[in-house]
Amino acid sequence: MNAPLDGMPHDDGLPVRRRTRQVMVGHIAVGGDAPIRVQSMTNTDTADVAATVAQVRALAEAGSEVVRVTVNTAEAAAAVPHIRDRLDALDCDVPLVGDFHFNGHRLLAQHPACAQALAKYRINPGNVGKGSKRDEQFAQMIEFACRLDKPVRIGVNWGSLDAAVLARLMDENAARAVPLDAGAVMREALVTSALESAAQAQAWGLPAERIVLSAKVSGVQDLIRVYRTLASRSDHALHLGLTEAGMGSKGIVASSAAMAVLLQEGIGDTIRVSLTPEPGGDRTREVVVAQELLQTMGLRDFAPLVIACPGCGRTTSTVFQTLAASIQQWLRAQMPVWRTRHPGVEAMHVAVMGCVVNGPGESRHANLGISLPGTGESPVAPVYVDGEKTVTLKGERIAEEFQQIVQDYVERTYPAHEGATRG
Ligand code: SF4
Repeated sequence: MNAPLDGMPHDDGLPVRRRTRQVMVGHIAVGGDAPIRVQSMTNTDTADVAATVAQVRALAEAGSEVVRVTVNTAEAAAAVPHIRDRLDALDCDVPLVGDFHFNGHRLLAQHPACAQALAKYRINPGNVGKGSKRDEQFAQMIEFACRLDKPVRIGVNWGSLDAAVLARLMDENAARAVPLDAGAVMREALVTSALESAAQAQAWGLPAERIVLSAKVSGVQDLIRVYRTLASRSDHALHLGLTEAGMGSKGIVASSAAMAVLLQEGIGDTIRVSLTPEPGGDRTREVVVAQELLQTMGLRDFAPLVIACPGCGRTTSTVFQTLAASIQQWLRAQMPVWRTRHPGVEAMHVAVMGCVVNGPGESRHANLGISLPGTGESPVAPVYVDGEKTVTLKGERIAEEFQQIVQDYVERTYPAHEGATRG
């Protein structure tokens, strides 16, 4: 997984990970031979300690391995150490990353406990200061990172590109015999801003092993092009994400389309899916989507996978849809306990199929499978365990009985880990 990028997948189809420098974000390793990490960001007011603690904890329990919080005001900076303390008291050790813009140099200086409590600083070189202040303020933030042994993410963004870098590249482009189009100059400016800022940070004393880079844009093809260029010119660990991906299925599809291409080329050490939640929606959805992207690509296992057929005219009712949904929810709900109690369970596959056409076949390929009756079939549901038909369920309690079969299988196949508590 840690060989240089050669553009060719392994025999099993899995990509060869591009070699990057490993960065420690608290106790979580990012890059190098570490697994591709899932991260997320809160949308609470960081100054609201209780709300932020609740959301960070929910994101961590859903599987976010690093959580970023905005640190935009003195109140937010003052709240950060309290958020850290409360999370620690709740046994939630997820590393917190501070997202700084404009006044980050001042907040870090005025709130040393915040600077210490954060596991990483995200710095946007386009938003650290204007004109002559830019380098001075950026240097101050890097100095804190050096002094406190913190890593930084130099995160450039299409929407807040460093104006000086863009202006310089536009001038250079205008002088070319055949100028590039504006989009190409913009992409080059993103990459240049990230790389030059990383070089500056290193010149000020921050080791390369403490720098993660990102260069986010909102267009799928632009993101692919920008990250391919970034990966070809640097060995820094890369944080992947499509910025402003949008809401619902559009956000999920756009993020998955862009990141899947890059991940398949071995590019990307940590990912975030930036979904705009529906009003009142669940922030943890972005974590689930990121995990499902990595898991369906065969890159990591997070939770047992439910294989369900889409249903068609052969299904007589919504029974199998309901069962597939309830099994999926139930499996995910078990994971906070199963993850430590039953190591290996995250690779389990469960098939929930709608009729006899593909039901038995797909069920035999999974660890556990159930084939529900379609139109005209007798009202019974054969269950398969490790490829063998073991029992046939019928009646009103098929869902509960199948759930019990899954629970027994997990206890048997992934024996309880020594020291893990039953919960
Ligand atoms: S398994 Fe049966 S119900 Fe499901 S999509 Fe195929 S034919 Fe339709």
